[in-house]
Amino acid sequence: MVAVFIDRCFWHSCPEHSAAPTTNADYWDPKLARNRQRDADNTATLQSAGWLVIRAWEQTPPEDIAAQVAAVVVARP
Ligand SMILES: [Zn+2]
Repeated sequence: MVAVFIDRCFWHSCPEHSAAPTTNADYWDPKLARNRQRDADNTATLQSAGWLVIRAWEQTPPEDIAAQVAAVVVARP
């Protein structure tokens, strides 16, 4: 089983394209931190249930993601 997430840059804090909002930082900082924590929790929960988890950023070309999925499926024992 393979779970593939395509994470949006802003909502998931992409290191290349996301900067913390400067307005309403009191709202956005904890909100984005919760998103990152939820991503980590979801990944850990799926992995502990035996799933292979692939997380890609929205800027990743679809063919690269497909190649990644193929590689993990082929490599899986
Ligand atoms: Zn990005």
